Amino acid sequence: MIVRFWGVRGSIPVPGKETIKYGGNTTCLEVVTTEGNLIIIDAGTGIRVLGQQLMKEDFGQGKGVAHIFFTHSHWDHIQGFPFFAPIFIGKRNKDGKVVKSSANKLHIYGSAESSRSIEDSLCGQMSDCYFPVSLNDLSATISFTYLTGKPIKIGKTKISTLPLRHPNGCLGFRIEDNGKVLTIATDCEHPENGECDPNILALADNSDLFIYDGQYTPEEYEPSKFNICMPAKKGFGHSTAEEGIKAAIKAHAKRLVITHHEPLHNDKMLDSMEKKAKVLMPSIVFAREGMEIVL
Ligand SMILES: [Zn+2]
Ligand SMILES: [Zn+2]
Repeated sequence: MIVRFWGVRGSIPVPGKETIKYGGNTTCLEVVTTEGNLIIIDAGTGIRVLGQQLMKEDFGQGKGVAHIFFTHSHWDHIQGFPFFAPIFIGKRNKDGKVVKSSANKLHIYGSAESSRSIEDSLCGQMSDCYFPVSLNDLSATISFTYLTGKPIKIGKTKISTLPLRHPNGCLGFRIEDNGKVLTIATDCEHPENGECDPNILALADNSDLFIYDGQYTPEEYEPSKFNICMPAKKGFGHSTAEEGIKAAIKAHAKRLVITHHEPLHNDKMLDSMEKKAKVLMPSIVFAREGMEIVL
């Protein structure tokens, strides 16, 4: 299984000279399974760049197949979707209908529990006041599947989900492929009682790679604990690298990567956060756009 990071930023894209090292695009991960199936997690602005890459191969010919899983519909996880070039590839017959054999196939998955379906959210952000092409006018063929908590399979790859602690909900993923386990837990907050979230521990149990939301420093998360006078980020639905380390150790995860970087954190700040975290766990890595990990 190959994991590629196309967007590692939380909340809003932050391009600029101060974010070149870690990247400014919002959340998007590409997972290529051992059998060669393409799984995409989230469509933050990073998916636009992934789309450009995919267009060089099957997707440019209308022969691509992708499985896009959404953790949730906050805009930093959906806003790249209208700019994902493969959605526009598919020929039409003289009646204007898409010829299925010439169109990319996108299988989209979202939570069955969310207050608004992922189809509705994508449709909403492509309504005419926001974007000139509607979801129903795309040339790719798109199907929607709603995840109820039952694991699903793509080829031999098993994908399980559990809800995470995040405003309006979020799904965490456990992807099992050819004996390796990838855990994705972005947009999650640790419990107040000092324990680890049992859902995170279940998803990350003996994981080969555990990707975790470490948007804030402990000082930003709960400044009063450090006698610092500034607004707290507690309750915003995000966590810290330190909490990620705690969960990774408890779950016996082999590698930990921190993602969903705070927009206010430039390269210098992320370097220093990573350095601090490495004191607690030398193998920890803060995700960088363009990073690739083979499991
Ligand atoms: Zn987010
Ligand atoms: Zn969110």
